Amino acid sequence: MDAVRAWREVDLDALSANLAVIREHAGPGIRVMLVVKQDAYGHGAVAVAHHAVRCGVGAFGVGTSHEALELRAAGIRSPILVLGTVVEEELPACLRHQIHLGLHTTGRARSLAKLARRLGLPARVHLNIDTGMGRLGVPPRLAGELLEIVLREEGLELGGVMSHLAPTEGLLDPFGVEQAERFASLVNGFAARGLSVGWIHMANSAGLFTGLGRTAHPGLFNTVRPGIAAYGALPLILPDARRLTPVLSLRSRVVFMKNIPEGTPVGYGSTWRARQATRIATLAIGYGHGLPWRLHGAEVLIRGRRAPLIGRLSMDYATVDVGHLPGVQVGDVATLIGRDGDDALTLADMARAASTIPYEIGCALCRLPRIHRGGEEVCIPAQPPLARGIPAEPGQVPRNARS
Ligand SMILES: *Cc1c(COP(=O)(O)O)cnc(C)c1O
Repeated sequence: MDAVRAWREVDLDALSANLAVIREHAGPGIRVMLVVKQDAYGHGAVAVAHHAVRCGVGAFGVGTSHEALELRAAGIRSPILVLGTVVEEELPACLRHQIHLGLHTTGRARSLAKLARRLGLPARVHLNIDTGMGRLGVPPRLAGELLEIVLREEGLELGGVMSHLAPTEGLLDPFGVEQAERFASLVNGFAARGLSVGWIHMANSAGLFTGLGRTAHPGLFNTVRPGIAAYGALPLILPDARRLTPVLSLRSRVVFMKNIPEGTPVGYGSTWRARQATRIATLAIGYGHGLPWRLHGAEVLIRGRRAPLIGRLSMDYATVDVGHLPGVQVGDVATLIGRDGDDALTLADMARAASTIPYEIGCALCRLPRIHRGGEEVCIPAQPPLARGIPAEPGQVPRNARS
């Protein structure tokens, strides 16, 4: 698909800048595991990962083994963790490609250990503890038992211990604070028993930007798992979110222009009618490309100025009232997300107009061609050496905890 009708642009320099802000929040010596699930929220997992490696990112989090293997096939050698869980059939490929796996049940611990022994390949697992997300993960009261199994079973290697925050506002929400406390007391309990647990991680972007690990429980965590912050779409109510730069742009060509008299209906259901004679521009993008059908009151930028999307979105086309913008013509580029001149529209603007979240918009645009720009200059230094006592690789977790 050529990028001539509608396309995404990914600004790798913006990604570098965001990773620098993330590193500041994480603090020195903390491993950044960049979350690149769902094709890096629509930004292109392979290109994002390659650039992130150059920026010092030490590991990647993905949603499925398929995503992990895609990164391996593209030459990414860093540790990769499947954040959620995998189905049984995915396990052999994960072991062959040294993919770290979240672990939630004793049943899986045993089947994984058996497979690891049969293949003669270690299975690296991160014990996922459900401190309040209520989705995946082992309940805290069963975590100790599961940990024992991991440490005992030949074939399993403990890569880390993790949990996930439920509140979208991280520690600004008291429930996030409570979750972090539950997790900290468990992990401290393991430490008190002399167990070395490898990577310790809980902070997504919201957790990271609200101080999890820096001001709350300093010294406990050695790894953070940001996603949306790296893409510059962290909710603005979170501290420092304004320092992040949007990475994604979405553009489409004007493919048709039409003058219409007052009262003319436009689009399916004739839900919009011209209040006065005006000029309509048709863009070559629709809900079939992942634009949300329910966009309400959204605008686009053409020639640096705003124009409203009008009428219902079609599968392949969108219509814009450009009566107030003289000079618009077929071939002009319309910006639905991104900068044009002095004005800009964000993923969050579109999400708001569609009553959804920026994450969903990024993922939904997956069918459009994508152009990566920038990235020639890597503006942040390579990751500093990890703090003493933190294993660089889960494979190097001290074995002294094993009997
Ligand atoms: C998606 C995800 C993240 C990243 O979340 P952001 O809100 O994008 O920072 C971190 N951890 C887990 C387990 C996830 O599923």
